[in-house]
Amino acid sequence: MALLQISEPGQSPDPHQRRIAVGIDLGTTHSLVAAVRHGSAECLPDEQGRVILPSAVRYLVDDKGRTRRQIGYEAMSAQAEDPLNTIVSVKRFMGRKLSDLVDPGRLPYQFEDQPGMVGVRTVDGVKSPVEVSAEILASLRQRAEDTFNDDLFGAVITVPAYFDDAQRQATKDAAQMAGLNVLRLLNEPTAAAIAYGLDNGAEGLYAIYDLGGGTFDISLLQLSRGVFEVVATGGDSALGGDDIDHLLADAALLDAKMQAVTPQDKRSVLVAARRTKEKLSTDGSAHLSCALSGGMLSVSLTRERLAALAKPLIDKSLASVKRVLRDAKVKPDEVKGVVMVGGSTRMPAVRDAVGAFFGQTPLTDLNPDEVVALGAAIQANQLAGNNVQGELLLLDVLPLSLGLETMGGLVERIVPRNTPIPCARAQDFTTFKDGQTALAVHVVQGEREQVEHCRSLARFELRGIPPMAAGAARIRVSFQVDADGLLSVSAKEQLSGVEAAVVVKPSYGLSDEQVANMLREGFTTAAADMKDRALREARVEAERMLEATRTALAADGDLLSPEQRAEIDALMVQIGSRCDRGDLDALESATKALAQGTEAFAAERMNRSIRQALAGRKVDQV
Ligand code: ADP
Ligand code: MG
Repeated sequence: MALLQISEPGQSPDPHQRRIAVGIDLGTTHSLVAAVRHGSAECLPDEQGRVILPSAVRYLVDDKGRTRRQIGYEAMSAQAEDPLNTIVSVKRFMGRKLSDLVDPGRLPYQFEDQPGMVGVRTVDGVKSPVEVSAEILASLRQRAEDTFNDDLFGAVITVPAYFDDAQRQATKDAAQMAGLNVLRLLNEPTAAAIAYGLDNGAEGLYAIYDLGGGTFDISLLQLSRGVFEVVATGGDSALGGDDIDHLLADAALLDAKMQAVTPQDKRSVLVAARRTKEKLSTDGSAHLSCALSGGMLSVSLTRERLAALAKPLIDKSLASVKRVLRDAKVKPDEVKGVVMVGGSTRMPAVRDAVGAFFGQTPLTDLNPDEVVALGAAIQANQLAGNNVQGELLLLDVLPLSLGLETMGGLVERIVPRNTPIPCARAQDFTTFKDGQTALAVHVVQGEREQVEHCRSLARFELRGIPPMAAGAARIRVSFQVDADGLLSVSAKEQLSGVEAAVVVKPSYGLSDEQVANMLREGFTTAAADMKDRALREARVEAERMLEATRTALAADGDLLSPEQRAEIDALMVQIGSRCDRGDLDALESATKALAQGTEAFAAERMNRSIRQALAGRKVDQV
């Protein structure tokens, strides 16, 4: 069986086939966008090289009444100055009513109790959490489009495993508002597991430990047949790195016997504490220093000191882990792997405690801030039909039309280009000559009307067709393209059931340029091709008439008088001469003339065959 090629998976330059799909981690404090490029997932940086976008939006109105927004770092730094109009941690309000919020009075916003979802009043009117999230998503979408200089095919957006329907729907709405095509919402722990490639590994239970700035999430996932299922989730919505900052700040103030008096002092010492805490993840000791209204604060701190301070908080997270395992009736040693997510899992004290609890070293190779976005990008890439390299894996649509050669070297298009695959199409053909027992099937690819301008993919013959009059056989030719771009063509004579088939396997024979050329030629020559096609069709029809007349003359020529015979011969000669010229109208009228000129003869033949059929039979046998 011939194995031939129909097109080039992943090699088309056709812009509509480039499928740029991104993963977005829409986080409480930080958001990121990632994509698979050059075979691996990476987070996309902004113009300043920063991959993180603080999940903060500030609404402003200038003195001329024009509204404006700041998103990300710009909004973050305006938070102290303009808390009412600078919305942070909006994820906590997604899909929530005012009555759902825990202690809304603690937050600086003017909440509006709206039907469906709580709103926040700003200088630019009441904003729903969906709108605010859409601003963040639109900013990431813009970043991705600028990076690739192209439109996005779609995005996978991550949500906490515990998000309910309303929260998920709100996330989808935000994406739609941001002009994103949501390929899927993906649970954050699942995304992290995918980033580590666990979906390709051993089946079993995996724990995802996510300690961020303000929240702690623990999820237990079951992997079976390459698919993760969330078995149990738990955590603490008010436990995270921020709490550790507070403890460290308090410890430093106590050491220095100082106090943070003003709100500015409190903010400064927290910022310094956070910086020191992060430094202690890599260094054994660090200085915490900042200017306070009462003087300079400067304290030396060690990693051990920080670990001791953080211990109660880490233990609190482990208590949640225990609860989740107990709920799921799982023992720590039944967990196959532990994935660390969230910036706070950079702390060695956290890693050590989690490792000791599960009796195994947790996975920490990937950047814990990025791991969720990376996993989402991998999934987005797959959902878009790309391969691991980020190239289009499948011929999601046919790049070029598929067809058959018919009489006169013309192409009958069976499956038009851009048809999504997998697909199946069939068309009926018939024989050209009386008694024809074989049919040549020639499969071609391309946009042109003539076989010689298309690419030949395969030829095969359908043999064993029972002899029948021309046009009586019914041969169904079926085209089938499977999800891998594998084309099979089969031909079956419907009355006798004789069948033949060929499989055309995709390979890498056609270059991008060739596909592009074939398309270009197909478009620019379409008008000329159509004219040429009409002429060829007229020639085929003329040939068919001539062939039928010759057959009839050979069989029943004796029915004609010499004059009648001469008349028909003259009509046939006329067709012959016009066939060679390019005059379509002349050829068509000559063919018509022959058809009319042989009508009487055809009637005579019919009478004769009826007489023959009835000869020797009694009337009641007919
Ligand atoms: P969220 O998921 O809540 O948006 P992240 O996962 O980005 O938050 O984590 C933010 C937290 O991680 C902050 O408390 C930050 O101080 C902490 N963090 C970031 N880097 C480090 C580090 N190197 N060492 C310790 N903590 C870190
Ligand atoms: Mg997070």
